[in-house]
Amino acid sequence: MRKNIWKKIVPFVAILLLLLNPITGLEIQASGKSEKVDDDFMSHEELGQRLDQIEKTSSGRVEVDVIGHSQQGRDIYAARVGTGNQVLLINGNIHGNEKSGPEALMQMFEILGTSDSSRAQAVREEVTIVAVPRLNVDGAEITQRQNVFPWDEVIAAYPHLEGAEPAWNYSERNGGFDINRDFNPDLSYEPVLEDLPGSSAEPGFFLTNESRILRELYLDLKAEFGKVEAFVDLHHMGTPKTNKTGEDVTIAIDYPPLGPDNSPKYDDWPELDQEKSIRYALAAALGVKKFSDDEEPGVARYLHPEERDLPGQARSSFALNGTATVLFEMPGQQPRYGYDQELIDRVENGLWGIATRMADDSINNLNGDDFFSLPKYWTESASDMKTLVERFKKEGEFDSDDVARSLSTHLTAVIIYEEKGLSEKIVKHMKIFKLLLDHQKEKGLIADNAYNRLKDDADYLIEKW
Ligand SMILES: [Zn+2]
Repeated sequence: MRKNIWKKIVPFVAILLLLLNPITGLEIQASGKSEKVDDDFMSHEELGQRLDQIEKTSSGRVEVDVIGHSQQGRDIYAARVGTGNQVLLINGNIHGNEKSGPEALMQMFEILGTSDSSRAQAVREEVTIVAVPRLNVDGAEITQRQNVFPWDEVIAAYPHLEGAEPAWNYSERNGGFDINRDFNPDLSYEPVLEDLPGSSAEPGFFLTNESRILRELYLDLKAEFGKVEAFVDLHHMGTPKTNKTGEDVTIAIDYPPLGPDNSPKYDDWPELDQEKSIRYALAAALGVKKFSDDEEPGVARYLHPEERDLPGQARSSFALNGTATVLFEMPGQQPRYGYDQELIDRVENGLWGIATRMADDSINNLNGDDFFSLPKYWTESASDMKTLVERFKKEGEFDSDDVARSLSTHLTAVIIYEEKGLSEKIVKHMKIFKLLLDHQKEKGLIADNAYNRLKDDADYLIEKW
């Protein structure tokens, strides 16, 4: 019976391949390659095996536990090492298509489990590191951002939500949630119908097993240690270039996005300490540079205009409870961007930067202002745009220096209006700036790259003011 089926199928497949190959060979090769590279990341099964191995070879230093189950029933692991009284909680792969975090954590735990170096010893003595290498185990298996939790299953799990509009962070297309919007600073919160669907500027709902498991771990550690000193979340993003030098961003680091410093929105959360988070973020950036053999000029700040306000992210919710929180963003999401050992080493180095400075307490003596001298890659003011014009000029994006000069002169005026907060004038002049750009494009005086970026940024400023 089996044989018969293959007799029919094999010639059909062979003909199909013959038909496809000459025409689409390149595409098949390209997509095959990216899938293969994506496969170089650990599967869920391999993650379990690797953790098992780390625990076994650690002479009792590393403890691995199953802390709960994903929506599809997979084990979610946590690894713990060290006996210090400061807790560093590290979370990886909350977005299923962002896979470097778990790889970096395996490398770090292998060292912490087996090494007698002074660095490893100091960290083990002074810090307790608890890592959830892969929170979104279901999303990672199919390489999608969201978990797998269709809305009808949500209603089955929470019948009192029947009739509610799906949460804003639920993706109809992928049948799951952006787990990193499912957190709420009220750590005893339970979802209620009136709060749905919510929005990015409001807290999340703890609807997913995954967010609830991380919440429980956080609360357990808080009960054990009195507080969770620091939390790091490991992500991937796009592939930007720094404003000033056009350098590829090789890792971007951030403190929690909770709106402008002077906003009263979080006055009821007195434990929020943004300065502390900024010092921890700086420690990560310094670690990437210190523990690398290279200069690492691509270490940057992650997108953080002051109005950015995302209380439903894990890092924001924990920060409002008094934890210093740091975001790592690595360039290139999977499956399009594959396994990159240098990138993974960079993440590990950033984590060592935090852990070693917690161990020797130097993290509290850092000057947070230094964080803001790291390069940025986005625009929030006319002076950012002026920096871009200078760079584009050097890169030959303009037909002549005069073209760059006319744009710069315009932006200089807007910088003065920004200082005085003259919103009408800013908007008016940015609109004229756009007309100037259009004119330059029509005359072929500006390259598409520079034109598109400056136009987008002008739109952003007009919207902002
Ligand atoms: Zn992410």
